[in-house]
Amino acid sequence: MKHLAMFPLLVLGLSLWAGPQTRGGKREMPFVRQAQVGKAFSVSWDPSGLVNGSACLFRVKPAQALRALHGKWLGRQIFFDFDASTGTWYGLAGVGLDTAAGTYQLALNATALNGAHVSSSHSVQVGKAIYRTDRLSVPRKFTEPDAEMRVRIRQEQALKREAFRRVTAMRLWQGRFVPAINSVTTGEFGERRTFNGKVQSVHQGLDFRAEVGTPVSALNSGRVLLAHEMFYEGGFVVLDHGYGWLTLYMHLSALKVKAGDRVAKQQTIALSGESGRSTSAHLHVGVRWQGLYIDPAILLNLQLP
Ligand SMILES: [Zn+2]
Repeated sequence: MKHLAMFPLLVLGLSLWAGPQTRGGKREMPFVRQAQVGKAFSVSWDPSGLVNGSACLFRVKPAQALRALHGKWLGRQIFFDFDASTGTWYGLAGVGLDTAAGTYQLALNATALNGAHVSSSHSVQVGKAIYRTDRLSVPRKFTEPDAEMRVRIRQEQALKREAFRRVTAMRLWQGRFVPAINSVTTGEFGERRTFNGKVQSVHQGLDFRAEVGTPVSALNSGRVLLAHEMFYEGGFVVLDHGYGWLTLYMHLSALKVKAGDRVAKQQTIALSGESGRSTSAHLHVGVRWQGLYIDPAILLNLQLP
């Protein structure tokens, strides 16, 4: 089920006004800076019940043809594309794990074909997800790294910060995201985990059961941002899908791509393994949208044009 709401649409500027008009013999106000037009944007989103950690597909059906549409949501930019088959603009976004339950505004800014600027704001409800708590055991070096390890961890954090900063303002993904392997999940997104009874963290991805050496494929088309052996992540690949969307693959035993490579959806990028801070052989898949970790399970469920 989709949430559907109609909202008034504001046309800013004078471009729609060709001059004084008459109706029923009466002269209407010809000069207004901001005219309310009796037309509407129709906005809907999937999934209808958004929670912290959700991926979210916004669909906007304008009453008039648009040249461009941009959105602002949770302080981030949403890039919209037009789907001619449905006459709908669609933009993929997310809600961060730390976002509190409440009502947030989706701000839309459009340019109509006639050049008029159109803007509107829409209230969107975000609920609170309930995530599990889990206790795990890993080798001690992962909860009490020595001085040498700590230096390495700091260097790798800098490498990731640099990579994660980039937002490619071009869409490299095409259609829906597909699973990296065909397997069952063994760990959910958002779980609060305690390692060796000491280190606490939130699980920022989805774990899949995978024997060492299982081919791992790209969730969507994109470009390799990072392909590196890391302390915590083990064999690690990060793909950039454009519009601020990244997918992360961890604990790999072999990397089949290098930074800068273009990859197609479902192309094999690595073999799964149990490297890094891993309790057993499995594949960890993470999804980031403009700095926020998003539940891969929700992204994988979205029907994208
Ligand atoms: Zn994991």
